[in-house]
Amino acid sequence: MRILVTRRWPDAVERALSERFDVVLNESDTPLSQTELGEAMGAFDVLAPTVSDRIDTEVIAGGDRCKLIANYGVGFDHIDIAAASAKGIAVTNTPGVLTDATADLALTLILMAARRAGEGERELRAGEWSGWRPTHLIGSALKDKVLGVVGFGRIGQATAQRAHHGFGMKIAYFARGPKDEAAALDAEFCPSLPDLLAKSDFVSLHVPGGDDTANLIDTKALSAMKPGSYLINTARGGVVDHDALAQALKSGHLAGAGLDVYPQEPQVPEALLGLENVVLLPHLGSATAETREAMGMRALANIEAFAKGEPLPDPVQ
Ligand code: NAP
Repeated sequence: MRILVTRRWPDAVERALSERFDVVLNESDTPLSQTELGEAMGAFDVLAPTVSDRIDTEVIAGGDRCKLIANYGVGFDHIDIAAASAKGIAVTNTPGVLTDATADLALTLILMAARRAGEGERELRAGEWSGWRPTHLIGSALKDKVLGVVGFGRIGQATAQRAHHGFGMKIAYFARGPKDEAAALDAEFCPSLPDLLAKSDFVSLHVPGGDDTANLIDTKALSAMKPGSYLINTARGGVVDHDALAQALKSGHLAGAGLDVYPQEPQVPEALLGLENVVLLPHLGSATAETREAMGMRALANIEAFAKGEPLPDPVQ
């Protein structure tokens, strides 16, 4: 069975894969072109891509050999699932193993935005810090503030758990229905997104990317947010209209934002780069050594099950 891994994976995972299968690794870690990805569909039994690859209809139509797309990562909005299904190609992801790391990063962004940590560090490194004073870089407390969680799945709940038990925040959430897990967090179910936005001091996004959630946070949603509140996005860039967000940050309607993801990565919307009140991280949600290895081992478990003809642990269709 021939496998193509599209980007560098942690050493331990690349070793484990190479011991078991005929694997082509990407030692230079250069992203493959759309043409190369399409050709791979005809040359490999398994394609093991990640979020930086766009596996669209044309790529999937590129060849008939591939029967498994084993994605490295939980989000799969970069893969045309309908086109894969139509060709009988299974798609798997790596859920659960990156929940804690991504929730930790959502809290990192909440804290950095609330306490103006990026602004402070930039000021200090520029040699512009004139010393402690009572009115310097005043931010916001978290205790007793409302965290509005949009999408109350694994990462949304893990973020709420940290915010509530770690920082004394109150939790409200928007989801397609109430969730049993909310009781342990004393979390209030909010069936209307505008209502959640209007009552939240911090809004943290945890829905999947894709057509259903594209520009969920647009001009209208941003104006529904409480004046002086904060928007945090570790979900997918396409969930937010970034021009509208830049406007809301410039006008002061929002006090701040913290972003880990962007619509056209690695491009970062120009309008945000010059703003002091937005924290901009380079898609670091799952970036711990432990998590990145666990993600690879989870992808490997799916490939092994596929090779043995066993049920796939993490099918997304
Ligand atoms: P999950 O457990 O599937 O949670 C997603 C939740 O969103 C589910 O509870 C789902 O509701 C809800 N949802 C889906 N569409 C919705 C809509 N239109 N309105 C309201 N709620 C909706 O997934 P997860 O593991 O928490 O991951 C969430 C996302 O985080 C991933 O899809 C990925 O894009 C992103 N992520 C980013 C990073 C990073 O590095 N920044 C790392 C990991 C993941 P139901 O329960 O009703 O299905």
